[in-house]
Order: sequence, then C-alpha cells, then structure tokens
Amino acid sequence: HGSNAALLARRASAVPRGVGSAAPVFAAYAENAELWDVEGRRYIDFVGGIAVLNTGHRHPRVVAAAKAQEDLYTHTSFQVVQYEPYVALAERLNALAPGDRSKKTLLVTTGAEAVENAVKIARAFTGRPGVIAFTGSYHGRTLLTLGLTGKISPYKKDVGPFPSDIFRAPFPNARDGITVQDALIALRNLMLTDAQPERIAAIIIEPVLGEGGYTPVPTEMLQALREICDTHGILLIADEIQSGFGRTGAWFAIEHSGVVPDLITVAKSMAGGYPIAGVIGRADVMDAMAPGGLGGTYGGNPVACAAALAAIDAIEEEGLLARSTAIGAHFKDRLAQIGAEAAPDRVWDIRGLGGMVAIEFATDMASGAPDADLTKRLVAHALQRGLILLSCGLHGNAVRIMVPLTASDALIDEGLAIFAEALAVAVA
Ligand code: PMP
Repeated sequence: HGSNAALLARRASAVPRGVGSAAPVFAAYAENAELWDVEGRRYIDFVGGIAVLNTGHRHPRVVAAAKAQEDLYTHTSFQVVQYEPYVALAERLNALAPGDRSKKTLLVTTGAEAVENAVKIARAFTGRPGVIAFTGSYHGRTLLTLGLTGKISPYKKDVGPFPSDIFRAPFPNARDGITVQDALIALRNLMLTDAQPERIAAIIIEPVLGEGGYTPVPTEMLQALREICDTHGILLIADEIQSGFGRTGAWFAIEHSGVVPDLITVAKSMAGGYPIAGVIGRADVMDAMAPGGLGGTYGGNPVACAAALAAIDAIEEEGLLARSTAIGAHFKDRLAQIGAEAAPDRVWDIRGLGGMVAIEFATDMASGAPDADLTKRLVAHALQRGLILLSCGLHGNAVRIMVPLTASDALIDEGLAIFAEALAVAVA
C-alpha cells in the first residue's frame, strides 16, 4: 500500500480538500472494534465509521450474508426487476418501528437521501411545503438537507441559497440555557410569526442530537412536538440515522419517550458497513406518491439488503440492545473518573442515552466556554496512542462514543486507559 505519508500526498493531489478526514492514516484491515493501518499499527476504534458499526467491522454474519448474495445477483434495480431481500428488509423494519399502525418502508442508499425522501413524502401527503428543523441538527450535505441542517461551518458555508420554507426552532440545550419550556415557547412563537401551521408539512428532529453533540431530546419535548403535530395536521419525522439500531439501547432512540413518529429515517448501523438507508412510515403517508415518484437506480441494493438483514439478526440474537445500555453506563462512570483525575476543571458535561455517550469540554468551569482546542488535542493524542476518537457539537468541544456494541469489556477498558492518558497530555 505504501506509507501513510505517501498515501496522504497522493490523496492531497487527487481528492478535494473539502472531504475532511479526522485521522491522517489509511486502513489496511479491520475486525470488530480494532483496525490496523497500512504501516501495521493497531488502533482501538471508538468511532465505528461514524456510528455505522454497532455490530463491529466485518461482523461474520454480515460478511457471510453479503458474500452469499454476491454469488446470486448484485444489482437488478428494484425499479426494473424486483427481489425478495428488499421486501424482507422492508417487512423487518416495519415490524421493528414503534407504533401499532400499519407501516411501509422505502429503501435508498444514503442518510441524506432518506431525509430528502421523508420530506418529499410529507409534502406529497399533506400538500404543504414547510418544514421545521432545530438548531445544531445534522440531516445531510445535499442542498435540501443542508437547508435543514442547523450548523453553518463547515457544512453550509458559501453554498446557499437553500430551499425555501425551512424554519429553524431552538433545540432545548442546557449549554445555551434553553429549557424545554423555552424551546416550546419559541416554537409556538415561530408558528405565530413565520411558520404558518397549515403550511407546515413536517417537523424533523433527531431524538438524540448526533453531530450536534449527543444531546438527548427530553421526553416532555417529544411529547409536546407530537401534540403540536396532531393539532395542526403536521407529520413528525424522527431522524434516527445516527441514533438507531441499538446505539441508545433501543432499536430507535424515540422509543425511550413512548412517542410514535409518523416517519423515521434510518441508515448507518442498519447494515453493519454497507451503504443502505430508508424511510419507515405510516402506510397511508408512505403511499402518498404515485408510482415512479420514489426510488433511484441503486436504492435498496440487494447485497446491502442481505447485509442489513444479517446485522439486524446480530443485534437481536447477540443481545446488543442490553449491551448498549451496559456499555453506556460503563462509559459514563469511567469518563467521570477520568475527567475528575485528569481534567477536573475542564469536563463541562457527560451525557447520553444508552451507548450513545459524549463528554464535553470547557476552558474552565466558571465560564463554561467551549474548548474546541482541548478536544482537538485529545483526539490527536489518542490517535498517536492507538485510539480512534471523533468530536461533535455545534462548538466542536465534545467527544462522542460510537464503539461497536460487540467490543469486549477488555478492549473498551484498554481504549479508556488510552483516553485517560491522552486527556492528561492534552490538558498539560
Ligand atoms: N442524519 C443524521 C442524524 C446523521 O447523523 C447523518 C450522518 N452523519 C445524516 C442524516 C446523513 O447521512 P449520510 O451521511 O449517510 O448522508
């Protein structure tokens, strides 16, 4: 393969710099929660390809299912010749998604495409144009989803204008001193000042803010959103692309609240490393568009469908939902200890739902000012010591835990020991 340095030089001249990479290393091999680079260095992986690998790198069941499918057919386009794995995955997702109403599922390829389609379907069903999204949210990098995404740098910088009829409401976030009550007052005011309720098709929310900082939406907020949607005939879309498939200890994060959304967007850990995404929703809503209105050449690729069915089996049969809850509790305990020892005046918050945990850093506890520099140093020092980490948050001052739920206790503790060392060096 060549060295990391040689590959970095080739990459710099062949790939646009807009494709950022957190780690200056190139992969050679990966298994479960470990990865080896082209120079033979081993890393513990707390990132899992950005929450894609809840079942780990190359889960044996997932790889076997994909290989078996590859020996039959790899692509026909579901819009031309249909195949059973698409239907089987749709059936499986309809049964897993919360709520008693009958459901249908559209399969696409990426998370952004799932969000685009959820909005299209909501518009077709309601006959309304508007969408309300929240501060700090992340819904993708296509132009509609960038319009929904609530963070300028680096995603939205210099690439507007964005589609019209997108409205922004504040996310209830302790960092900004915004309570659920404040957020709801602002949302109700938005509906009096700019966002005419009868012109709103959907409210879209991540039940746990992902890129925005791993902040769970309080149950009262989700309940209130459900009520507001029901009052005005608005659809509630839960973007579970990062929070789904066991990350929070449930199939879908919104299940913790008991609130049933009308549409759910899914991707990432659904297929253990294969590119597939979907929109799961109320059958009447999902059927709003006429034949030909939905789809795409690769949507619901058969190899990815087979991988997804196997990943879902693995989550179920290996008890990974309960494992996520246990992993999350362990991380919260250990991160609190590590923070108290290495950086007592710098750990602003440790939070999360199940195994979806983040630790947030401040310059000092008195001001609470976000410390993105410390966070960057921590990530860099961890990588040098063999631990892959990724930051998150509107201010880039949190580190999120997306370790495979299949990782052993010993490997997790080995990674946490590196985390402690790296934090101590980053603070010094
Ligand atoms: N929504 C959420 C909540 C996400 O976390 C992401 C990806 N980080 C997306 C949408 C976009 O998914 P993709 O990168 O597959 O387009």
